[in-house]
Amino acid sequence: MSRLNGKIALVTGAARGIGQAIAEMFAAQGATVIVTDINDSDGKNVAEKIGRNAEYLHLDVGIESDWQKVAKQIATNYDKLDILVNNAGITGFFECPGPHDPENLDLDSWHQVHQTNLDGVALGCKYAIGLMKSSTAASIVNISSRSGIVGIPGAVAYASSKAAVRNHTKSVALYCAEQGYKIRCNSIHPGAILTPMWDAMLGEGEQRKQAIKAVAADVPLKTMGEADDVAFAAVFLASNESKYITGIELNIDGGILAGSAATPKT
Ligand code: NDP
Repeated sequence: MSRLNGKIALVTGAARGIGQAIAEMFAAQGATVIVTDINDSDGKNVAEKIGRNAEYLHLDVGIESDWQKVAKQIATNYDKLDILVNNAGITGFFECPGPHDPENLDLDSWHQVHQTNLDGVALGCKYAIGLMKSSTAASIVNISSRSGIVGIPGAVAYASSKAAVRNHTKSVALYCAEQGYKIRCNSIHPGAILTPMWDAMLGEGEQRKQAIKAVAADVPLKTMGEADDVAFAAVFLASNESKYITGIELNIDGGILAGSAATPKT
């Protein structure tokens, strides 16, 4: 249980869901974890549950002054950063009015989704590089989505922002390599992971059970994933076990991206 021993890690959007699972697994593997989110009460609970190897800091990823403040605190308190997981993300379905289709999209909603999902990742990489330059083995893990690889007609801002995260990851990976920084950068592309993000889409009670069954039926492995399925991959990409891996995209989606619903039988 020491794959991340001695490492200082920051996880965004870690008050629940995938971010929480990553924060908890990182701590279990020996890292000191800075849990960040905009949901301060749940974020503090996650840090308290982890114990003395964690602290909570408020961080709205789309706001540069928040990143400046957090970067300053990390430099003062820890003098380094080894791991950043840019996890915070929104679909826009509940956070903004929409619509989210290409013909009718609401421009403010489009910008709001990109501010969190894309600006948030770009700012995270910017401030992490500054803190990680002196590290001998640092890692940035960007949580994109399967929606960053295929088109999503009903959620164009989400899909566009996640596609941009996929590409920005590769630019960051190459930039750091060119500069001689020991900072790797990779993206994870989850699909159909059962987290609170899905709650409002699934409904409650019997309706929820049927909705989960319907989502699972479309997954080749016939089940939705768990937050820990993503956390295990994040541990690998954050650890020195992946020291020769940079600029990759890792799909964690039960096989969704391996095929296509429109594939002919032969
Ligand atoms: P959740 O909605 O369950 O958790 C996201 C967390 O991020 C929440 O605590 C949320 O706070 C927080 N958050 C929202 N906006 C900001 C912000 N501006 N700054 C900081 N924190 C913020 O999502 P998941 O755990 O399901 O998803 C995590 C990541 O994985 C996201 O990037 C998502 O797009 C991606 N993903 C998830 C998939 C899935 O099937 N679950 C599939 C593909 C990708 P609050 O509760 O206050 O909004």
